[in-house]
Formats: sequence, structure tokens, C-alpha cells
Amino acid sequence: MTKIKNGLFVVATPIGNLGDMSARAQEILTTVDKIACEDTRVTGKLLSRFSINPPMIVYHDHNASKVRPVLLADLKQGVTIALVSDAGTPAISDPGYKLIQACIKYNISLTVLPGANAALTGLVQSGLPTDRFFFQGYLPVKSGARLSELEELSGVPATLIFYENGKRLAKSLSAMASVLGDRHAAVARELTKLHEEVRRGLLSGLAAEYCEAGAPKGEIVVVVSPPELPPPPD
Ligand code: SAM
Repeated sequence: MTKIKNGLFVVATPIGNLGDMSARAQEILTTVDKIACEDTRVTGKLLSRFSINPPMIVYHDHNASKVRPVLLADLKQGVTIALVSDAGTPAISDPGYKLIQACIKYNISLTVLPGANAALTGLVQSGLPTDRFFFQGYLPVKSGARLSELEELSGVPATLIFYENGKRLAKSLSAMASVLGDRHAAVARELTKLHEEVRRGLLSGLAAEYCEAGAPKGEIVVVVSPPELPPPPD
């Protein structure tokens, strides 16, 4: 078996298409002593597709303060641990940040294996400017907080990237249109999956489309152009 260094390996996993599981991710997940994951059923299913089966330990937002010290104690004793999330890159709208911080604090070796990420995939697929972008992730659920967060974002001179769900999509798009102005945008759904779909248009038009069609199924990234409209493509 390959000898790997001690410490924490933060491992990105596919956001839908198993072909995006890197050879390096497979090698590390096969070699580590333990895998910390959000949900053993989700990660177990992924690992079984690659015939990987080290012990798993659940690490998510609700048990993080209890489980983090356990993981750190293991790491300090030389146990190698991989951190994965349900999909994509850990620590991006997913657990991981505090564990990573603690590893740095205690001088525990930290290795990040890059891979799939919905925000960057959606940004590139949107066709909107990529030179400067701002990742917002999820907007607050409550409409007051959501509007004031959008107010804050309205002056950001960059393409904006949001995570959203189907139920809230139409409302979010119309809130964006009214607070940010009627900018160019893209709704990227089910990226890398069989039913991948990207709809591009002005925020008001997209809001109307989804209001009429009802909540779409699947996972969604919304990308919104910067305050000034981009020049037309060459
Ligand atoms: N850590 C993940 C990453 O690197 O992309 C994101 C985790 S966050 C909890 C999940 C959100 O990411 C979903 O609600 C959706 O907004 C977005 N997402 C994840 N997979 C997606 C996909 N295949 N297509 C579109 N959006 C996706």
C-alpha cells in the first residue's frame, strides 16, 4: 500500500458525475485510516462505487464541536484522516473550516486535494465575467435578512455566485432583480449530471420563467453579472 504522510487530507468529491472523482482522491481515500464525512450513507455509496472501505466517522455542523476534538486527538497521534463532504469541496458551504483552522494551529500536516465545486463550475458555465467574482453561497432564508444582504452585495464590483434551492429560486431571482437591478444572470441546475441545464437571461425574465414553471428539481447555482453590463462577447 502507498505510504502517505500523516495528517488531514481535505478531499473534494464529485458534485454529480462520478467520472469527476480524481485518481488522487481515490488513492488517498483508499489509504487513510479514517474518513470523516457528513453522512455515512451518502459517502458510503460513493466509496462503494470505487471499492473503498476505511472506517467512517460522522462530522457535520450539528456534532462538530463534539467530534472535532476526537479527530484532533487522533491526528495528533499520527492517525491519517480524510475529510469529505456529501459532494464537492469540503469547507465551501460545507463543514471543514474549523477543523482546517485547528490543524494549522496545532501544526498538523494539512493536504488539500482539489476537485469538483458547484460555484466555480456554475460560474464558468454561465459565460459571465470570470475576472472578478464574489461567492455568496446561500442567502438568508428570512426575506428581511435576504433583502439586506442583497443590498450589501449591490455595490460589489464582481460577478456574484449564489447557492439556491428550487423552492426559493423564483422569489430569490425577483428579489435580486429588484435590489441589484435587472442584470444578466444564469441559473445552472444539476451541473455535471444527466439533466444538467443552464438558463441565461435577465434576472426579471428568469424570475418570470421560474414563477410560471414552478419550483425546478435538483441543485442550483445562480450567477449574476457585475453592476455594469459586460460588453458583448467577441
Ligand atoms: N461543497 C459543495 C461544493 O463544493 O460545491 C457545496 C455544498 S452546498 C451544501 C450544496 C449546494 O451546492 C446546493 O444546494 C447547490 O446550490 C450547489 N450544488 C451542489 N451540487 C450542484 C450541482 N450538481 N449543480 C448545481 N448546484 C449544485
